[in-house]
Amino acid sequence: MYDYACQNWLATIVGVHTSQKLIALTFDDGPHPAFTPRLLELLAQYRARATFFMVGQHVEQWPNLARQVVQAGHEAGNHTFTHSRLVGRTPWAVAGELLRCKRAIRRATGVSPRLMRPPEGKQDVIAFLTARLLGYRVVHWSASAFDWRGDPAEVVTRRVLSGVGRGAIVLMHDGVTPSPGRQTVVSPDRTPTLKALPGVLGRIREKGYRFVTVSELLHTAPLIRESWFVM
Ligand SMILES: [Zn+2]
Repeated sequence: MYDYACQNWLATIVGVHTSQKLIALTFDDGPHPAFTPRLLELLAQYRARATFFMVGQHVEQWPNLARQVVQAGHEAGNHTFTHSRLVGRTPWAVAGELLRCKRAIRRATGVSPRLMRPPEGKQDVIAFLTARLLGYRVVHWSASAFDWRGDPAEVVTRRVLSGVGRGAIVLMHDGVTPSPGRQTVVSPDRTPTLKALPGVLGRIREKGYRFVTVSELLHTAPLIRESWFVM
């Protein structure tokens, strides 16, 4: 009981321990009318499945895109309704964000998300516990493309390729979301990500890896977890 509670229930997931060549690509902040359709084409070309942590208000605005993502075999995750920070919020405010996003995803796709990723990866204990009590697994990442910085595609490619390995969860973005209160500047252009992807997908696949959804990855092997909180 102790082991389960501390090792699994109270853990933010960043990957799995596996000897299999499996990688879960994740794309946050979408759907986006310019970038998501191009991303779906690329993923189909490379027969890669991925997980999309969607922002509820974007799903409400472009429900057909959200539906296309799920119909193509990808997984939809909950990334809150407005993409505002969950740190310092009441449990009711956090629950409201998650429930509104879930409703939008379910209405658009017919599927309820089981995974949640806090905006900017930032959470406090209240946000984390609220998500867990609503039945979500909280998922961060083991490698980030930092593609919101506006770096050229070659830099994004190098960063992803140097960060991936067996059981990795990779963070990239197909959407654009202004984060209220965020101090860093976020590039509104996901073209570098899309330009980087053929190289990234091709080279990782050449090494014998398969691209799976996060839920599939979590079923294959013991979790790599961490407690990652911003107070
Ligand atoms: Zn985000």
